[in-house]
Amino acid sequence: MAKHFLPNAMLGILGGGQLGRMFTMSARSMGYRVTVLDPDRESPAGSLADRHLCAGYDDAAALKELAETCVAVTTEFENVPADSMRYLEQHLRVSPSAESVAIAQDRIREKTYISGVGLKTAPFLAIEDEADLDQALGAYLPGILKLARLGYDGKGQVRVATADEARLAFGELGGKPCVLERQLELVAEISVIVARSGPQQVACFPVAENRHESGILDISIVPARVSDAIADEARRMALRLADAMQYVGVLAVEFFVLEGGDLVINEIAPRPHNSGHYTMDASLVSQFGQQVRTLCGLPPGATRLLSPVVMVNLLGDIWRDDEPAWDRLLSQPDVHLHLYGKKSARIGRKMGHFNVLSESVEVALSKALELKQALQKP
Ligand code: ATP
Ligand code: MG
Repeated sequence: MAKHFLPNAMLGILGGGQLGRMFTMSARSMGYRVTVLDPDRESPAGSLADRHLCAGYDDAAALKELAETCVAVTTEFENVPADSMRYLEQHLRVSPSAESVAIAQDRIREKTYISGVGLKTAPFLAIEDEADLDQALGAYLPGILKLARLGYDGKGQVRVATADEARLAFGELGGKPCVLERQLELVAEISVIVARSGPQQVACFPVAENRHESGILDISIVPARVSDAIADEARRMALRLADAMQYVGVLAVEFFVLEGGDLVINEIAPRPHNSGHYTMDASLVSQFGQQVRTLCGLPPGATRLLSPVVMVNLLGDIWRDDEPAWDRLLSQPDVHLHLYGKKSARIGRKMGHFNVLSESVEVALSKALELKQALQKP
């Protein structure tokens, strides 16, 4: 094995949200130590880490501290300043690379890169400034104008039917670089999570079928209810992309399934993904375990599905005036609850999730939907 890091080593992570928290728990359960960098004093990961550096992601002193005290650094989100990643890369192992993060944090670069390696995306046009909207837009309408940077959970996106609407929407989005993407007829949305430590050390989790509500992931169903041919193709495409990027770390790839079974890549995330939370209970090694392994230069763990599983996201919406009715969930033996320790519940805020494991996805799905309802009943 090439250079690798073993338990007791100090690992760093940029970002202390729920993904950082689950990484921290996974790393610590394996005996690693963790330093979290996050400016929020009450970040979900900060309180569980060995050390919480409470500072901005571009804070020179904090970055220096990370570089000097950690053996390797990863990230829980793609919007870290590229310069911070590049600085860290000069001093220690960083995975995913600054270059991979730079591709994933900008929709123009991302889509250009993906189509450049011969993989399909929705037809798109880069809109750097208003003049870019003067060309013929017919091929991209009706479409969705998406901010190139900093969008998530469907934020920073406007649906447009005509060129005039596109112009208006561009103004609404602040005139910042965008992509105009054709709105496709979707049969389903699926995702694949790859863990890659090097060219011969790659593992791919089973395909998840994702349902969204108001632009936010609501549930993931695994295995996805698509044909074997579609699932194989999705995994093949994800692996091809990871190879092209010489990716090291955990890479999530979101796909649209079109009429006739064609697949296009929607977007990628250079980190564990909400649609991979099922792996926490239905895989020997979770996506966070893979993040630890790939970061430490160890081969990825097994990705075989141990049971059909349905993951349900818990958004702040269901807190209303009170806590959800946890007893109804926790009285079930085949359900695992994960809460992120966030102090205040807000509409649309990801507070936790639960996984339901059953003998079939159909049973898991109907049980999951029932429980989601039951949590909210008075
Ligand atoms: P997230 O953070 O949840 O991944 P996001 O803000 O990055 O979301 P996208 O993944 O680009 O946003 O889009 C959110 C959802 O909007 C998609 O999951 C899909 O349901 C729908 N959508 C996006 N682009 C298209 C498209 N070209 N055609 C049809 N539907 C689309
Ligand atoms: Mg998305």
